[in-house]
Amino acid sequence: SLTLDAAWTVGWIRRSAEVLAAERAALNTLDRDIGDGDHGENMDRGFQAVLSKLNDLVDESTPGAVLKLVATTLISTVGGAAGPLYGTAFLKAAGAVGSARCLDAAALVALLTAARDGIVLRGKAEEGDKTMIDAWTPAVNAAAAAQAAGSAVDEVLLIAADAAASGAQATEPLIARKGRASYLGERAIGHRDPGAQSTSLLLRAAADVGR
Ligand code: ADP
Ligand code: MG
Ligand code: MG
Repeated sequence: SLTLDAAWTVGWIRRSAEVLAAERAALNTLDRDIGDGDHGENMDRGFQAVLSKLNDLVDESTPGAVLKLVATTLISTVGGAAGPLYGTAFLKAAGAVGSARCLDAAALVALLTAARDGIVLRGKAEEGDKTMIDAWTPAVNAAAAAQAAGSAVDEVLLIAADAAASGAQATEPLIARKGRASYLGERAIGHRDPGAQSTSLLLRAAADVGR
C-alpha cells in the first residue's frame, strides 16, 4: 500500500508541475473567459519555481518540510489571487502535518482541511461563490467521510480527487461572488472557474502518484 512520506510528497509536487505545464493553455483559456487569462501562466510559473527548489531538500525531509517549501515558493513567485491563496493553503497544510515522517489517512484529511481553511481565511469565499473553494470543500468533505469509514490513504486520495473534479465542473452554472469573475455578473454563467480546475488538477495529481 501507499506510504505518504516525504518522497511521496515530492512525487505529488513533481506530478503537479507536469500536469500544470501540460494544462497551462487550458487554464489560461478558462481564465480568459471570466478573468484576465493568466491562471495557467501563474500556476506553471509557480510550480516550475518549486521544481527548481526541490533539489535543495535534504534526504531526511518530511512531508511538512516539502509543503512548506512549496508554500514559500508559491507566495514569492505567483502573483495575483492564486499565489497568496495556494501559498496559504500549502503553509497551513504544512502546519497541520507538523514533523510527521509519514501521513496516515487522518493526517491526510487534516492536511486537506487545513489547506482549504487557509484559503477561506485568506479569501473569505464561501461554497457556491465560484472559486477554488468549490473544488476544495467537496474534496475535504469526501475525504473526511472516507477516512471516517476506514478507507486507506490511496482510496481517500482518489475520492478527494473525484469530488474536486465534480466540484470544479459544478462551478460552470454559477455566478461568481469573489475574484475578477465577480465583475461579470451573469456573463460568468457557463464558464468553469479556473482556480477550481487547477485545484482539481492538483488533487488528481496527488491521487495519481505511486499508482
Ligand atoms: P488573478 O485573478 O489575480 O489573475 P489567478 O488568475 O491566478 O489570479 O487566479 C484566479 C482564481 O483565483 C479564480 O479562478 C478563483 O478560483 C481564485 N480566487 C479568486 N479570488 C478568490 C477568493 N477570494 N477566494 C478563493 N479563491 C479565489
Ligand atoms: Mg487571472
Ligand atoms: Mg492576473
